[in-house]
Amino acid sequence: MTEIRHPLDIHSLKIENKFASMPSEFYTQLMPTPLADPYLVAVSKPMMKSIGLDPTLVDKEFCKIFTGNQLLPDSQPLAAVYSGHQFGVWAGQLGDGRAILLGDVAASDHQHRLEVQLKGAGMTPYSRMGDGRAVLRSSIREFLCSEAMEGLGIPTSRALCITGSDQYVMREEPETSAVVTRLAPSFIRFGSFEHWYCNNRPEQLQILADFVIENYFPELQTHANPYQALLAEVTKRTAELMAHWQSVGFMHGVMNTDNMSILGLTLDYGPFGFMESFDPAHICNHTDQQGRYSYRMQPTIGQWNCHALGQAMLPLIGGVKLTQEALNDYKRQYEKKYDQLMHKKLGLFEHLENDSELIDSFFLIMQKNAADFTLTFRRLGYIMRDENSQDESIRNLFIDSDALDNWLSKYRTRLRQEQSDDSLRQQAMSKVNPKFVLRNYLAQIAIAKAQDKDFSEISKLLQILQHPYDEQPEHDSYADLPPNWASKLEVSCSS
Ligand code: AMP
Ligand code: MG
Repeated sequence: MTEIRHPLDIHSLKIENKFASMPSEFYTQLMPTPLADPYLVAVSKPMMKSIGLDPTLVDKEFCKIFTGNQLLPDSQPLAAVYSGHQFGVWAGQLGDGRAILLGDVAASDHQHRLEVQLKGAGMTPYSRMGDGRAVLRSSIREFLCSEAMEGLGIPTSRALCITGSDQYVMREEPETSAVVTRLAPSFIRFGSFEHWYCNNRPEQLQILADFVIENYFPELQTHANPYQALLAEVTKRTAELMAHWQSVGFMHGVMNTDNMSILGLTLDYGPFGFMESFDPAHICNHTDQQGRYSYRMQPTIGQWNCHALGQAMLPLIGGVKLTQEALNDYKRQYEKKYDQLMHKKLGLFEHLENDSELIDSFFLIMQKNAADFTLTFRRLGYIMRDENSQDESIRNLFIDSDALDNWLSKYRTRLRQEQSDDSLRQQAMSKVNPKFVLRNYLAQIAIAKAQDKDFSEISKLLQILQHPYDEQPEHDSYADLPPNWASKLEVSCSS
């Protein structure tokens, strides 16, 4: 049995920094820049518990520490360097322009360690034109979505808390600043590898790869070619992550290689969105005019990014052929995972020959009817195999209900083919088709209230989104279609 530490206050948090054991060229050690009079905006209780902290023991000192105004003993704050491809173009050196890594702490199960990063904690040598800050609006979105993705069961970096300050920063208009404390086993990105490759520094590239393998993929150490095995594993995780995103209609918005986690986690929440009226060409990022990162492009871009990583790892792996081998399975892995997830979403336990046609034709009528992605799948889970008494709720989402009826009749034939049991299927479907996702308008309501210093809506949303598959009838209104005003909401890279 693993020993669970008793929840304690902030002084009990023992911090180390294994990233700092790498050569100094990998980072710049520096202090966070304090923000004026920080206050607590939100805290994730499960995340607090998972690093052994008591969520009720949050005080002023806690706020100072997680704003960067005060350091925990032994923290070695640093900003890491990386590079990357942005919108398909080589962008050169980037790096933690506003994130400062404090170090890593033990998870309370003692099974792994989590890096603690302050996002918005001030300028670093990698800030370029930026001010090193994050605004309250984007911090709330990142905080809520990290924890919502965890609730959905999708690999992600996590969020511990948000602290805010009345100190203004300039965006399109002045906004108040905030710091999100993010946690993940590692924040190393594809771009961290590209950095050393493009600077023609093979020895640094190897140090980085060895560090990643030793700390996060120790099982690959005995592999005949550990670097090739690493690329293959990252490729697999990325392919599967893309399938997960597609299956819940999540759109990342800025899938640049510097935002791609080497651990296959969803990372760097910016102008993300969840699909509402289904349109595969939907672009959630207002800045992305070409639609490079539209919903339907995500799986292809995931593959493109793995190729960029493969290019960077080529000198380590020892040739094009071996590198290609590690990348080759992406499409198959993506399709396999996607197919598995879609079967679950439709409540199909068996895999039969014409299933992809059935799935594709469902998406086609969803698109033609601009049906809401989340509600459609949730309500599909209510229908019965042999009678249509429960069809009304899903029918309400389709203008052309004849088209839906037509499809439902094929679906029912398919359900009968595997003698589907209504109750078992409905139960299984409710565990994979969320009722609640972080719709832009829900985030916007919480943001507007928070800007008036009422943080209660953030906590409420957080609680709901941590259990997105539960019925939570008392929160039915949070599963509603977006109101009309929501169609005017735009999210962009400005954060
Ligand atoms: P992103 O598109 O948010 O992933 O950011 C791309 C790069 O710009 C990263 O190196 C970020 O650290 C940096 N960056 C974004 N916003 C800021 C900011 N306000 N201040 C400094 N650097 C920033
Ligand atoms: Mg980023």
